Amino acid sequence: MLIQLQTDISADLHEKLCEKIQQFGFKIHEVKTQSGKYIICNGKVEIDIRAIGGLQGIKDIHYVSDEYKLVSRQWRVKDTEIDVGSGVKIGRNNLSIMAGPCAIEGRQNILDTIEHLKKNNLRILRGGVFKPRSSPYSFRGVGIEGLKELYQLCHENGIKIVTEVMQVSQVVEMFDYVDIFQVGARNSQNFNLLDALGEAGKPVLLKRGLSGTIEELLYSAEYIFSAGNEKIILCERGIRTYEHAYRNTFDINAIPILKEKTHLPVVADTSHGVGIRRFVAPIALAAVMAGADGILLEVHKTPEEAMSDGQQTLYFEEAEMLYKKMSEVYNLR
Ligand code: PEP
Ligand code: MN
Repeated sequence: MLIQLQTDISADLHEKLCEKIQQFGFKIHEVKTQSGKYIICNGKVEIDIRAIGGLQGIKDIHYVSDEYKLVSRQWRVKDTEIDVGSGVKIGRNNLSIMAGPCAIEGRQNILDTIEHLKKNNLRILRGGVFKPRSSPYSFRGVGIEGLKELYQLCHENGIKIVTEVMQVSQVVEMFDYVDIFQVGARNSQNFNLLDALGEAGKPVLLKRGLSGTIEELLYSAEYIFSAGNEKIILCERGIRTYEHAYRNTFDINAIPILKEKTHLPVVADTSHGVGIRRFVAPIALAAVMAGADGILLEVHKTPEEAMSDGQQTLYFEEAEMLYKKMSEVYNLR
């Protein structure tokens, strides 16, 4: 059961309500986010909902049979829209394109990407400054100084940034220079990081784990929400299977399934999802058709010179063709 409280409930009434609900035999979790106050009630308790529903201070009460509660569509049936600020919104009636290099490489690379985004009326740049790399000898990113430069240039140009945070200590370090924190596949179940991002309150783009199930992704989102942050975007980026003809198995099924299970926006990263440049665009179009609220893409002026993931990175010209096709496909839905 999920109880939504009136946001102006007094502390006294709040406490009394919690006591009363516990008296019925529920184990409770209190949640306070940017926009709401909730009590999650767990336990097999048979009650007449009217015994609680009529109590003062309660806005609404919902039965949620899913084990994850706050991210479930069972209580919030309408799609959630994430407001990133300056008119940039993700989810509901938007197809959000987030494009940029796998790794931010320096000033010229940032300027090239911004020019490309602006030319195509795109508002969100994706690019890592802290890069999780399989080998410690690969390029690991320009770090916090690079992020500051990225933020300054994007900010001047009305562009929002989504970039990966890898550990709890970076949340504070990066906070002022990030619009959307990305949790990468390798950190999808880093529960300390999820808690910290819940407390931080800025939008979070949460990727599915390398071998993560859909349910595990939803539980990870529940961590962020229950720690205080409702601004969550889920991302399907392919999973590891026995197939090795391509980098990851992009799970197209996950998109409609997630859309049904949760009210949160669902985006698709088809660059990592397939990992082969010539297939990134068709899979992206399929993801749009399957109901994605947005697409993450790796793009670069000269992918063959990119410092990471060049093999799956689109040339600007290829990306431009894809943007046009994606908006056509979106309009067919
Ligand atoms: C990325 O988006 O650059 C990235 C490292 O992705 P993932 O965590 O999905 O591997
Ligand atoms: Mn990459």
